[in-house]
Amino acid sequence: AAPVSNQLTFANLNISEDILRAVTDMGFEKPSPIQAEAIPPILEGRDVIGQAQTGTGKTAAFGIPALELIDPADKHVQVLVLCPTRELALQVSDEVKKLAKYKRGIKVEAIYGGDSIERQIRALKGGVHIVIGTPGRVMDHMERNTLKLDNVKMMILDEADEMLDMGFREDIESILEDMPEERQTILFSATMSKPIMTITQRFQNDPVLVKVVKKELTAQNIEQVYFEVKPKAKVEVMSRLIDMYDLKLLLVFCNTKKKVDEIVEDLQLRGYQAEGLHGDLRQAQRNNVMSKFRSGVTSILVATDVAARGIDVEDVDAVINFDIPLDEEYYVHRIGRTGRAGKSGRAFSLVSRDEKYRFREIQNYTKVKVEKGVIPSFEDIVG
Ligand code: ADP
Ligand code: MG
Repeated sequence: AAPVSNQLTFANLNISEDILRAVTDMGFEKPSPIQAEAIPPILEGRDVIGQAQTGTGKTAAFGIPALELIDPADKHVQVLVLCPTRELALQVSDEVKKLAKYKRGIKVEAIYGGDSIERQIRALKGGVHIVIGTPGRVMDHMERNTLKLDNVKMMILDEADEMLDMGFREDIESILEDMPEERQTILFSATMSKPIMTITQRFQNDPVLVKVVKKELTAQNIEQVYFEVKPKAKVEVMSRLIDMYDLKLLLVFCNTKKKVDEIVEDLQLRGYQAEGLHGDLRQAQRNNVMSKFRSGVTSILVATDVAARGIDVEDVDAVINFDIPLDEEYYVHRIGRTGRAGKSGRAFSLVSRDEKYRFREIQNYTKVKVEKGVIPSFEDIVG
């Protein structure tokens, strides 16, 4: 769950009764800072640039005002959301559907590659109010004339920095060029960069900048510990940590797809409910893995950084860096998956001799000194 600001309530934000009810059902007590700051200008019809890190509640920050804008009687697409990955498109559409629970007749559809295009075409023909898609698949539908954007009133670029990193710049630009000029354009991003500012200048109209940046790069309620481990002993050490700390839901990060597969097999052989997530899986498999993990059927999700981008899973007890990431930012992203909403979380890093230098660099970057842990012995677990 996202961190919450302490003064405002959702009712203070002039949100309609049906959305207030949905928000209550979802267990949101108060708006998060980005929600408190971004919802009012979006409701006023302003273009907004929202800068906030992962896990701060950006989806509802645009999802709520988007729903307020929809006229259910009008069967055209009225809101388009672009997301970097299929997982995020699904995650955003799930959240928007929950927010729309008490609003009658609102159709929300996720449109992404890897899913049957015929099914998507049928859904679009039936009338969809909010389309949440990945840029490639949205372009595909536009070219086939199965998605018309002539009546779009609001366009949202979610995780804009990730989309640009993934090479979607041209697609995004052609989509934006094909839309009515009279529209609201909202852009959310964890980081601001020159390419993002360029998009902003070209496609937004006098935008309001809403910025919620945490002071520390890493949350203080995450206990960070590292263990010096030989590469061959990593699985053994990880399984001791899981047993010793009684970890129920955990994310394990590896740097390669091959490693993900190996670790999953090792963990399964040891009797753990583990599954892998990486780019080689078919979409249906990925969805299946994610929903099993969300419902707790799978307790260990082993993933690469790319596959896990932006994915939000609540209540992860711990993140284990099986491999030390090559990029410092990845470390921050990885461990940010635990210790949310004031809960405590653990981040364990298994550092081999070759990775020591990189791990030091990461600590210089995050300005947090990570304590060295003592590897639990067999007695620690059984005794
Ligand atoms: P972001 O897009 O910034 O990474 P999300 O929109 O995915 O963040 O939200 C992160 C998590 O926080 C989700 O599980 C979401 O349901 C939850 N959440 C969002 N807003 C609130 C709130 N006001 N109170 C409690 N939890 C919230
Ligand atoms: Mg998001």
